[in-house]
Amino acid sequence: MEESSRHWIEQDHAHCWHPFTRQQEWCATPEDTLVITKGEGPWLWDSEGRRYLDGNSSIWTNIHGHAHPAITRAIQNQAAQLSHSSFLGATHPGAAELAEKLCSYFPDNTLQRVFYSDNGSTAVECALKMALQYRQQTGQKQRVHFAAFNAAYHGDTLGAASTGSVTRFRERLRDNGYRVNHVGDLKQLEELESHTLAAVIIEPLIQGVNEMRPWPKGMLAQLRDWCNRKGVQLILDEVMTGFGRTGTMFACQQEEVIPDYLCLAKGLSGGTVPIAATLTTKKIYDAFLGDADHAFYYGHSYTANPLGCAAAMANLQVFEEEKTLEQLPAKIDHLKHALGHLEKEHTHIHEIRQSGLIAGIELRQTGANPFPPEKRIGEAVCRAARKYELLTRPILDTIVLMPPLCCGPEELDHAISAISGAISDVL
Ligand SMILES: *Cc1c(COP(=O)(O)O)cnc(C)c1O
Repeated sequence: MEESSRHWIEQDHAHCWHPFTRQQEWCATPEDTLVITKGEGPWLWDSEGRRYLDGNSSIWTNIHGHAHPAITRAIQNQAAQLSHSSFLGATHPGAAELAEKLCSYFPDNTLQRVFYSDNGSTAVECALKMALQYRQQTGQKQRVHFAAFNAAYHGDTLGAASTGSVTRFRERLRDNGYRVNHVGDLKQLEELESHTLAAVIIEPLIQGVNEMRPWPKGMLAQLRDWCNRKGVQLILDEVMTGFGRTGTMFACQQEEVIPDYLCLAKGLSGGTVPIAATLTTKKIYDAFLGDADHAFYYGHSYTANPLGCAAAMANLQVFEEEKTLEQLPAKIDHLKHALGHLEKEHTHIHEIRQSGLIAGIELRQTGANPFPPEKRIGEAVCRAARKYELLTRPILDTIVLMPPLCCGPEELDHAISAISGAISDVL
């Protein structure tokens, strides 16, 4: 190992605390610690000069590849001009232009207002708080509950986390946060007392953290319809699905659904700098007009950060210049075929779930029983995939493949054959 790698790993193990990480094990295995030092296109390099395909888009954020020249230039130019100034009491060109651009994806009488924040959890927090305050200001004080779906994931801040229901994240917080009714499907939702609901929140088309599980086709449109009939607002958490990941710019477009709140983050800046947005309608915005009592008291010091806005604008321009969406159907099809072959090759693949360029490959024992969790098969397979130049992470025993949209057929094949090699090595 290079002297510099060793040094960084020692510093990390002495002072850093990683997300969702068993720190004791992390610090005990320096030989396993990757130090990522460079990215270009869909590839990442570590401090030992080894290269890896970024198989989960750096935790679902990257869109057009790393160090994309146009996005890099936009950030550099913005940094040379103004890196940050407060959005409290002033505006700046990037935030104004980006807000108009984001609204241009939606019809005039729908999502036409943008509230900025920093990450997916805050984009969700913002929608939840808006939904509650909207009810208070429109004479519907009884609507204080939220509905959310079982196994959903909407972020880690307390309010957002209370709408999630992944047991191992939520157990300790069960008595805190918002009042949330969790339901398994539309049928259970319909059984709830809808007159106390402020809003329902969902990850449209596919649940991410729930091991990449797609919803039945048509479900989103039915949910919108139910919300309309019951006067319940619809919050779409497109933090993962936004920006082409499922094949269209936004997942909701596939079922011609427009929510009351749209939460965007991860891919908004193309996976470069943290920025998030919560879009809402004129009707909701109008309920916040009037005296001080009606203001939306929410914000962060880096709200609408100019570097984030510049990166996001460049990200959206790259979509147009490179015709990213137009190229997706062929790529999605290629991935589907490659996954089909992979499934035939390995008896331990229980199921492959795909939505656009998002795939979950679930591994089980022969006979379809799950592996004992303590075996950590998913982790072992992802660890083994490094040898085949692929970086990704599992969710339990589901291997996640969610490469940057810029990947071509060769890179998709590279990822699949790396997963194949890794499964063979481990099982
Ligand atoms: C990642 C994610 C979040 C949380 O976003 P952060 O930026 O990590 O706070 C919320 N919802 C969904 C669907 C996500 O995938």
